Amino acid sequence: MKVKEHYPLYQALANIVGTEHVTDDDFACWATIGDLGIELPPESHLVSPPDIVVRPQSTEQVSRVMRLAQRTSTPVTVAGGKSGVGGGCMPSEGGILLDMLDMNEVLEVDEDSMVVWVQAGCTWSKMLTELERKGFTTGCMGPHGNMSAAVGGSVALNSFGVNTPKYGHVGECVASLEVVLPTGDVIRTGTRSNQAANFTYRYLQGPDMAGLFTGGSGVFGVVTEAALRIYDIPIHTAFSCFAFKSIEAMMEALYRVQRSGYLTDGMGLVGGATQRYFPQVPEAVGVLGLGFDDYDERIARAQKDICDRIALECGGEDLGQELGEAIVANKWGLASNMNLGFGNSPQMVGPSTTMNALRGGVKAFVEHAERHAPDMTVVPHTDLPACQVYVLISNQVMALIGHGGQFTSWDREMRQKWYREDRDFLYRRVKGIGDSLDLVGHRGTEAVVASWNPAYHEFLRALKKAIDPNMILNRGIFNLT
Ligand SMILES: Cc1cc2nc3c(=O)[nH]c(=O)nc-3n(C[C@H](O)[C@H](O)[C@H](O)COP(=O)(O)OP(=O)(O)OC[C@H]3O[C@@H](n4cnc5c(N)ncnc54)[C@H](O)[C@@H]3O)c2cc1C
Repeated sequence: MKVKEHYPLYQALANIVGTEHVTDDDFACWATIGDLGIELPPESHLVSPPDIVVRPQSTEQVSRVMRLAQRTSTPVTVAGGKSGVGGGCMPSEGGILLDMLDMNEVLEVDEDSMVVWVQAGCTWSKMLTELERKGFTTGCMGPHGNMSAAVGGSVALNSFGVNTPKYGHVGECVASLEVVLPTGDVIRTGTRSNQAANFTYRYLQGPDMAGLFTGGSGVFGVVTEAALRIYDIPIHTAFSCFAFKSIEAMMEALYRVQRSGYLTDGMGLVGGATQRYFPQVPEAVGVLGLGFDDYDERIARAQKDICDRIALECGGEDLGQELGEAIVANKWGLASNMNLGFGNSPQMVGPSTTMNALRGGVKAFVEHAERHAPDMTVVPHTDLPACQVYVLISNQVMALIGHGGQFTSWDREMRQKWYREDRDFLYRRVKGIGDSLDLVGHRGTEAVVASWNPAYHEFLRALKKAIDPNMILNRGIFNLT
């Protein structure tokens, strides 16, 4: 029997991380090709399986892997929970897959600075559970429905999620990052760039370099540790739920509620399926669930009362606290239901401002998609900070290509059609209409790059070249080579 030859860097990598943390088995390499958030299998021209998978155990090991890769011009792709939707956790040219999930410790809860330091491969689930035991929570509590995402992946994508209306994107919750640059050098941002500092704060000490690594899809460095701001768990919550007879009225209410600044989290349903979930309001085409929290019961209640008044002024019908709680508290479950249905595509109008989304055609979208896929539900998350909205249109692409929401991934032709439609759709929204894309990765690169001012693209290229001379890290994303 012929013995399989190892990948040329196998031994050198095994010397760094240990043989038990490296594999070039075909099975393991192919098994790592995937992104839970989108079907982008290897037949897509955008991605290919790695040649070798490495699971580092420490920052020092990541640094040594990067030095080796830089010396040998070997492509490296970083992966966390592999759910980023843009497929950025998948290599575009083989090489090393740096799987961060073994670096998963909650390192320190620093009550002086009110931050938690975690290793980048720590899942939201693990971090929040450990924090909760001590009475703390983070601001944004990670992506909806996806607690298995890793903190490093969410930083790299600047994800949004639970409680984003109040606390902003994950990036805004970052206090400091430890990053291994593509050269192998290790840096810390913010006050932690001061080697003598014993507190953690994002700003001071010069430019805000954490921003380079939030939303950069991993092209500028490997995040190995992150400090996120923490808060005492707010004990008082209040919820509301309102049904609306027109999409315009609902979006107007949402806009005014967001503008008040009181909303902690919220979620809406729009479209015909609303009536399936809320048969008690037969004419409803939209329902909003709103959540408010605070450390004082009176303040939580007052925030709710102000927003209730706004919803009523916009013609909302009050469906009561209980339903509001069911919608907002179950937001994770709802969102993952929408996203994970096989073949569903989390397409969106936006992220954009709420009023822009309304003007830019939420209504037309709903009507169009429902003509083709009558069961479809649109989910406007009130995810982004005040006055913004992220409208997920599950099944949208399937509806657009005329499959009525039915999609089977075994049908190669249908898959190809899906990729084309998906690409054109993103292109139209970003380049054509001016929506801005998050979760970029490979999937969104073409649209985002086409929308950039060329000078901006050149600026990022120059930055990349300066810190990644052989352009080894996360090749393909943002077309920086
Ligand atoms: C059901 C479901 C619901 C979701 N809901 C949301 C949502 O509400 N909001 C939202 O924003 N997203 C959502 N997502 C997308 C995704 O879960 C998040 O964006 C998540 O933050 C990605 O984290 P990850 O660890 O899975 O990243 P991965 O997919 O592993 O990686 C994402 C990108 O980050 C890079 N990367 C990973 N780790 C590092 C690191 N340590 N250093 C540098 N770069 C790194 C990768 O190379 C890749 O480019 C959802 C996905 C699913 C499947």
